[in-house]
Amino acid sequence: MSKSSDVIVIGAGAIGCSVAYHLGHRGISARVVDRESIAVRASGKAWAVFTYPPTWIADEHCIRQPSEALEGAPVDISATVPGVSVRDWLFLHASSYDRMPEFAIELAERGGVDIEYCETPSTSLVTEEELEEAGGPQDLVQPHLTAGGVESRWIDGDSLRELFPSLNPAYAGGISHPAGQVEPYRFSLAMAQAAEKLGAEFLQGEVLDFTTRGDRITGVRLASGNELQADAVVLATGPWIGKLSAKLDSPIACRPVFSECLRATMPVDLPLHTLYAGALSILPKKNGEVILATYGAKDFVDRAGFDASLSEETKLAALEGVARVLPALEDATIVEHRGDLLAMAPTPPYQKPVMGPFPGWQNAFVATRFGGDGVCMSPATGEVMAELIDTGRVPLRTRRMFECLAPVSEGR
Ligand SMILES: Cc1cc2nc3c(=O)[nH]c(=O)nc-3n(C[C@H](O)[C@H](O)[C@H](O)COP(=O)(O)OP(=O)(O)OC[C@H]3O[C@@H](n4cnc5c(N)ncnc54)[C@H](O)[C@@H]3O)c2cc1C
Repeated sequence: MSKSSDVIVIGAGAIGCSVAYHLGHRGISARVVDRESIAVRASGKAWAVFTYPPTWIADEHCIRQPSEALEGAPVDISATVPGVSVRDWLFLHASSYDRMPEFAIELAERGGVDIEYCETPSTSLVTEEELEEAGGPQDLVQPHLTAGGVESRWIDGDSLRELFPSLNPAYAGGISHPAGQVEPYRFSLAMAQAAEKLGAEFLQGEVLDFTTRGDRITGVRLASGNELQADAVVLATGPWIGKLSAKLDSPIACRPVFSECLRATMPVDLPLHTLYAGALSILPKKNGEVILATYGAKDFVDRAGFDASLSEETKLAALEGVARVLPALEDATIVEHRGDLLAMAPTPPYQKPVMGPFPGWQNAFVATRFGGDGVCMSPATGEVMAELIDTGRVPLRTRRMFECLAPVSEGR
């Protein structure tokens, strides 16, 4: 692609900002159009955890059967279905995860924003009863080691109580992995500002349709009535992909589900160590706040109408639940209750991104449906999408992944 080309990226979430930044790296300046602003939807509200990649494989949810995924109504954002495995796009997790320490420095230098990256241990708590049932700590850690998680280890109850003195005595310890985290809004903002330094432009506007000639897109039509010329377009619209992709004759199936969490402060900051207790999550952030959330019933609800309203019921369930795990959280002061829509594959809801060349068009591309993990996949997604757009070729090192995530192959 010529360096003077006009690439329009639709959507300024983590994915759109990353694509724009990586295009800039290649000397191609993008115009990013968002109907709202940078990272105002899920990308700015995420927990923004970068999970240790082998845990995706070890995670029991990855082998969940569809009947189980459907049963009991709650949508599990980690669910997948037989024949669909995170292994097929593990590159996006692994490459992004490995790159983060350097990427944080790069973005601070180029984007002028501290994304508040840090490594944090992340522990899934295990009760005495669960430990007994499993046979012992090694039996619980082994599946993670088998999945390649060489840094997964057992942490005993005493060590956890040194960190969290009020931890419920029912917990015997936990399976611990390394993880990374960033501050979500700052992360997308940093990529956007770094992209601007490399020539990108960010515009406000809602894309309603495309102008075309033969099998090429020539531009986008905005709700304002204005048209923007384009040599190529990238659809990075998160859950709003359905209608827009239909304008290009290949509707991409997408199920919007809602996810929410609380941000709180404590009289004394918690240590930077994430705790998961079944459906409950306690995630201390670098700025001293702590994210509190639950994955229980009603937490990931279908929002076919794109309603993004918060649930008081979910808030109370999260507060009650986390205080049972860590009674010190009774002293938490809620500073924010927030959430937004995630883009899932439909029926049963499962995770599988869609990315690559848009079928039937010479110069259209798509990167969407990242479910509950789009922040942690965004660095590598932007990198390989920019390479694809620039060279016109799927990078060989990701050829199978692109085949698997191509919009044509998913058709469900
Ligand atoms: C509570 C919560 C916790 C989460 N925790 C994590 C986590 O720990 N780790 C992780 O990796 N991910 C997490 N996620 C998921 C993550 O936020 C998403 O996967 C990611 O933000 C998706 O990015 P995106 O750019 O694809 O979409 P979005 O952030 O939804 O951005 C899409 C953008 O496109 C714009 N747009 C749509 N249609 C149009 C149009 N027609 N014209 C112009 N603009 C348009 C929208 O305005 C929006 O700004 C979490 C999400 C939530 C809600």
